Amino acid sequence: MTRFDTVLVANRGEVALRIIRACRELGLRSVAAHSAADRGAPWLALADEAICIGAAPSRDSYLNIPALLLAAEACKAGAVHPGYGFLSENASFAQAVEDAGLVFIGPTAESIRTMGDKIAAKRAMIEAGVPCVPGPDQPLPEDAAEIERIATQIGYPVIVKAVGGGGGRGMRIVRSPEALAEAIAVTRTEAGRAFGRADLYMERFLEAPRHVEIQVLCDTHGNAVSLGERDCSMQRRHQKVVEEAPAPGISPRVLRDVAERCVAACRHIGYRGAGTFEFLYEDGAFYFIEMNTRVQVEHPVTEMVTGIDIVREQIRIAQGETLGFTQANIAPRGHAIECRINAEDPFSFTPSPGRIMALSLPGGPGLRVDTHITTGYTVPSQYDSLIAKVIAHGATREQAIARMASALTELRVEGIATNAPLCAAIMQDARFRAGGADIHHLERWLARRAAGGADAG
Ligand code: ADP
Repeated sequence: MTRFDTVLVANRGEVALRIIRACRELGLRSVAAHSAADRGAPWLALADEAICIGAAPSRDSYLNIPALLLAAEACKAGAVHPGYGFLSENASFAQAVEDAGLVFIGPTAESIRTMGDKIAAKRAMIEAGVPCVPGPDQPLPEDAAEIERIATQIGYPVIVKAVGGGGGRGMRIVRSPEALAEAIAVTRTEAGRAFGRADLYMERFLEAPRHVEIQVLCDTHGNAVSLGERDCSMQRRHQKVVEEAPAPGISPRVLRDVAERCVAACRHIGYRGAGTFEFLYEDGAFYFIEMNTRVQVEHPVTEMVTGIDIVREQIRIAQGETLGFTQANIAPRGHAIECRINAEDPFSFTPSPGRIMALSLPGGPGLRVDTHITTGYTVPSQYDSLIAKVIAHGATREQAIARMASALTELRVEGIATNAPLCAAIMQDARFRAGGADIHHLERWLARRAAGGADAG
């Protein structure tokens, strides 16, 4: 017995298309909620129905909870898929959906709330035996002398972070006691303004870690599995640019151990659906930083190596079905790399919205392109600049890189600028090719390029 036959897709762009495709495959009706700016957008044609929920600004449409609930009611949806970004990690939205008698395709509002509070998340992880960055699992007190004592105990450098932070904002590195008071004051004000709560916490700042995350899937019958890890260390301004699975050069025993702890944590908190545990990895050890309670942009690399369709599983889990596999059935094969193609200048990174005059997408063995754009499509200026994800799979990491490099030469987007040349340059970079570069590598490379370094490798 299924719980729903119609899914409201509360998102846009490539992820809306990804969800619509999963619904079609499962024989479910999909209804795409969209803003006025996205009227006539290509992915809407693949949905069974499209419904305009508000004006172009996200707060009027993709972030408009009453409008989304009304749309769900109007189209008789039984479930809502939030995708990533927008309302995907908004506990009030998840709660409102369930209060309206609909299924939220994601974890419970309570899980989202706990994991959205970074201190509560850290505490839950410590309880479950997941290794965390050294630092108290309590918000910082008001008293300056007490804060200084905590920092000294952790050891400099430390990082001050907003409890309710997100999107790489609301944090500050402090290298000496002299800089502490001001960093606290500035971050507190910023956090209050940006996240509506001024609580801060502090932990050790790791100088040159890698970003390695663990994908999990949990059904509502007590089954929880790990789909392995992704390395997302190629970042610019804390935004991932290139991701891969598996993470090169990490001991399988260490990976298995951290993955098992994540699965245990899921059982501990009664997690359901897809989720990602994000870690910093340094000197052979993992340190938990946060959990994402949704599907992630980079989920395709995991799908390519495991053969498991994560979005389909999210929907099946929401239907109340059991996972169709156990940990023993999951055997990652080969290597996969994803490049995020953004509508932005590859040098200045200024957004480049506008009309796509011509488009050729790459193809061939081991290649996947997730995109909502077509020739003639106008990339609107109001939203995220992600226009496509190119994913290459190979038997080895070398083959995946070679396929990606070749695919990027085939990709042609005319009319707007994209960061594809940057992705192509990363594929040729000696440090990237060696595997295991840290999270600052891309920024260092860009700084050298800006300074006129011929070979920014
Ligand atoms: P957000 O929710 O804003 O993404 P995260 O806690 O995931 O915040 O941190 C974002 C990024 O900030 C990390 O990917 C990492 O680059 C950096 N960072 C966060 N905590 C630390 C730390 N303790 N040491 C070093 N870098 C950190």
